[in-house]
Amino acid sequence: MKQSSPTPETGAFLPVSREEMEARGWDEVDVIIVSADAYVDHPSFGHAVIARLIEHAGLRVAILPQPNWRDDLRDFKKLGKPRLFFGISSGMDSMVNHYTAGKRLRSNDAYTPGGKAGFRPDYATAVYSKILKQLYPETPVLLGGLESSLRRITHYDYWQNKLMPSILEETGADLLVYGMGEKPLKEILRLLKKGVPFSNLTSVPQTAFRVPQGSVPKNKAWEDLTLVSHEECLADKRKQIQNYRAFETESNRIHGKRLLQNTGTHTIVLNPQYPPLAYGELDESFEYPYTRLPHPRYQKRGAIPAYEMIRFSVNSHRGCFGGCSFCAINAHQGKFIASRTRESILREVDIITKLPGFAGTITDLGGPSANMYKMGGKDFSRCEKCARPSCVFPKICDNLNTSHAELLELYEAIRKHPKVKHLFIGSGIRYDLFLQKTPDKALAESHRKYRETLIAHHVSGRLKVAPEHTSDRVLEVMRKPKFALFYEFKELFDKQNKAAGKNQQLIPYFISSHPGCTEADMAELALETKQLGFQLEQVQDFTPTPMTYSTELYYAEMFPGSGAPLYVAKTPEAKKNQQRFFFWYIPENRPWIKKTLDNLSMGKVSRLLLSRTSLQENRTYFPSRERARNPEPVKSPATDQKNRKRPPRRR
Ligand code: SF4
Repeated sequence: MKQSSPTPETGAFLPVSREEMEARGWDEVDVIIVSADAYVDHPSFGHAVIARLIEHAGLRVAILPQPNWRDDLRDFKKLGKPRLFFGISSGMDSMVNHYTAGKRLRSNDAYTPGGKAGFRPDYATAVYSKILKQLYPETPVLLGGLESSLRRITHYDYWQNKLMPSILEETGADLLVYGMGEKPLKEILRLLKKGVPFSNLTSVPQTAFRVPQGSVPKNKAWEDLTLVSHEECLADKRKQIQNYRAFETESNRIHGKRLLQNTGTHTIVLNPQYPPLAYGELDESFEYPYTRLPHPRYQKRGAIPAYEMIRFSVNSHRGCFGGCSFCAINAHQGKFIASRTRESILREVDIITKLPGFAGTITDLGGPSANMYKMGGKDFSRCEKCARPSCVFPKICDNLNTSHAELLELYEAIRKHPKVKHLFIGSGIRYDLFLQKTPDKALAESHRKYRETLIAHHVSGRLKVAPEHTSDRVLEVMRKPKFALFYEFKELFDKQNKAAGKNQQLIPYFISSHPGCTEADMAELALETKQLGFQLEQVQDFTPTPMTYSTELYYAEMFPGSGAPLYVAKTPEAKKNQQRFFFWYIPENRPWIKKTLDNLSMGKVSRLLLSRTSLQENRTYFPSRERARNPEPVKSPATDQKNRKRPPRRR
């Protein structure tokens, strides 16, 4: 497939209005994609990929971006009714888009021209779906995208502070595609083109639907697993978190079971996912004839921040085997890495170098994690039997190939492009991968070379990494590596930086209020990072987004196996207090920190944290190193009595 050259002509875009449909000679389309994001015709935007795929299948498709849901619904009527179905692709979760971790309304929306808020409703998928069902009851509605994918079974909704049923129950939509939608959508289109009625689409992998109880269609290809019903989950928090773990286990398998969950008078049927994409299968999604531009209708409304961020960046792969508890990638993209071919990536780099405004810098090359390109199990048959949520936690699986050799070759090929002056890596780096201790000399060499190449050539001045916390106990709940590994990386980074004659900064990301994290843990985090020379800026308060393990821990306040209680900072005040430790250097926070640490009997931490001279006087104390020297008996999070309901008192 060839890319068309970028053009601001509307004819190169898919139609978004009746006039643009008519300009193509269409009085009707086969599919209308309703999007909560502005239409950006670029492979990083889900609605564009899906619509281009439908076009590639030989069908007529139009896009209805950010329709007005508050007036007489004329936007929903202007393109008419599609012949086959409406598809809803809400983009990111609308509640995460709208509200901060403290549930305050955001004043901007990165996916809207001018960064303006107010162009999508709360719970956009449900709102659009209900409107379409009201206006066109006979036309099927297909849900896709992150918002519906991560609300496909009973889940905790932070903004309403309650468990919600599958989004299928709430919206009455006919079918839901979860995860990355290309493969299931192709199969749906194939069947529809053959004349199969939409209501008969019950055997497409990676889709979900709702049927009256007792009418679940038989399917000999898959084994069934019946989850606890929505009503039982409502009645018992422990059942909810155990349900989540069962769901998580199945979604991390290559050959998962079909999941059934009774909800009200219906059963939600979740067909298992497709096996991971083979190397190169992903190329097609990046090579449709995108204009790579926002639709010209936005020209007078200002730039779209999310587009500005990615316009000169390249996606090399999907999926992440990190399995961090707070991250939704596993439940959406899966833990197996699907990589583009080197040729496809280089073709895209070449296209980018010809774009107006390109000044020689590729701003990012990566995926959910930057350095997982082409990684996976050495023996695939072992992966086929595996249900671990992470290939790297609690330790790197001996079957995982962590060689960075192919990624290094890719970096080198891009560096050699005559029009590329810089290739920067903006996606997060997993330093545990290239700090892996291994007797394999070739592997160790690829790790060493990657570290050196990264620091010498690919840091834009600031390298983002995500240790997330300094407490190993909290890190264990997060399924992240121990903090000692960050020390090791920082030492190497500083040394290598010096050797390369550079003055680059390491920017660590941290999270407060994660389930299991107490004020004492935050105080130690503040002290450790102060002593490492950081004044933190990239920090976040934990947001319980739908369908992550951490969110379910937040809701249940207990571990799934043993039911052992887990401390969770839940009130706005408790969450705000944890954040204050990040900003120990702000004068208004100091008296409160002192009083709190006095109450926690943490005098030593308090004195060093609040001292203005301790570093010059070489007075330091690293609690995590102390613990590493005198380890406490290892306890699994399920039995760890330190994870008790009340914040513990220390020193
Ligand atoms: S066997 Fe190892 S590499 Fe394969 S999926 Fe399981 S944890 Fe990952």
